[in-house]
Amino acid sequence: RAKQQGGGRYCLFSEELAAEHQQKIDTEAALSEAVQRGEFVLALQPQLSFATGEVCGAEALLRWNHPRDGMRLPGTFIPVAEQTGIIADIGDWVIAEVASMASEWQSQGVKRRISFNVSPRQLDRHDFLPRMRAAFADAGVPLSHLELEFTESAAMDCSEAVLHEIAALRKDGLSIALDDFGTGYSNLARLRALPLDRVKLDQSLIADIEYSEQARVVVQAVIQLIKGVGAEIVAEAVENVAQADILRAMGCDIVQGFVFAGPMFEDEFLSWTRNADRGSRGSNVA
Ligand code: C2E
Ligand code: MG
Ligand code: MG
Ligand code: MG
Repeated sequence: RAKQQGGGRYCLFSEELAAEHQQKIDTEAALSEAVQRGEFVLALQPQLSFATGEVCGAEALLRWNHPRDGMRLPGTFIPVAEQTGIIADIGDWVIAEVASMASEWQSQGVKRRISFNVSPRQLDRHDFLPRMRAAFADAGVPLSHLELEFTESAAMDCSEAVLHEIAALRKDGLSIALDDFGTGYSNLARLRALPLDRVKLDQSLIADIEYSEQARVVVQAVIQLIKGVGAEIVAEAVENVAQADILRAMGCDIVQGFVFAGPMFEDEFLSWTRNADRGSRGSNVA
């Protein structure tokens, strides 16, 4: 139809849009099959205490073991999953997998907290948090072994009812972390009222901290603000020793980044942490 209306540019634009739309539909169908076929896997990235060097936990990061493309990173499919709503099914799989992993760790005496990411679309569904609570209870995993991460913008946009439920989960031991802090807009009154254990500084705040005095001033102020609301600070995407030294000196509590370890699959993560306990370092694969 675009052709009949003439105008080559318009025609091209419309074909592009149609192609994009088709790709979205294809990806949605593929994602839905991927859930059923069990093509998802969680990678684990260690989080270390700055003070002691101990591995205090791990963030579970989603990977799609695509039959043709190989291991796909969340950036290539989470946006479509969120737009189409299929993220709800994927998110349920993530919760089930975290629950079974945490339960296994518990029986093996592995004492590491597992953090997992929850998207705003999941929080929108009124039954998500109660079902999540039930999944952990059914697996026999205490909430104190787990941490829910939601982004700064999700925290600003979600309903009071959701915040209430999150606060109740926190009372029962679940850790709550605010992810990607510094990328959204924050209502400071709401920030103060959030039920929070930790705030994760976004990588964009940290990226040039070793070169830029201005970056250091901003991060120092952000750290002061977060300490003011009583939360711990996680420095994320820390890539080199210079950055780590600065962030430690500024009062960050926990570090996560390629400087120590990237995301790994479960077996490698467990052996990495055993070695880390003995004071050595591992590699990254996932
Ligand atoms: P995020 O939650 O902020 O996760 C941190 C991201 O930073 C991860 O990317 C991790 O691999 C990466 N990273 C870690 N250390 C470094 C470093 O030193 N340098 C750099 N440049 N990057 C580092 P990944 O695994 O690609 O995940 C991207 C995003 O996808 C996550 O950001 C999160 O928002 C989303 N995501 C991951 N898993 C899930 C999930 O299960 N559910 C939902 N809803 N979202 C997820
Ligand atoms: Mg297993
Ligand atoms: Mg995260
Ligand atoms: Mg983040």
